[in-house]
Amino acid sequence: MVILYSALVMGLLGLGFGIFLAFSNEKFKVEADPRIEKIIEVLPGINCGACGYPGCEGYANAIVKKGDAIDKCLPGKKSGVIDKIKEVLESYKK
Ligand code: SF4
Repeated sequence: MVILYSALVMGLLGLGFGIFLAFSNEKFKVEADPRIEKIIEVLPGINCGACGYPGCEGYANAIVKKGDAIDKCLPGKKSGVIDKIKEVLESYKK
């Protein structure tokens, strides 16, 4: 009988915590700007810091949130990163 009660209590606790986590996930959801993710995809992903930021994600955030220049990625210049970033930014203007 003890095992049955223990399993029931654990099941109810699991259900309660599950509902709490689902509610918290919806209540405190952070909306991310989709442009940041798209720019991260076109950057080389080397995370070298040559742009002045700790990594590609930091640079993508600076472009979108601070309006930083799009030509700071030195490793990506030859592979056309600037044009790709321009395309991403312009595609979200429409
Ligand atoms: S310079 Fe380019 S590759 Fe290096 S961290 Fe900055 S965005 Fe990433």
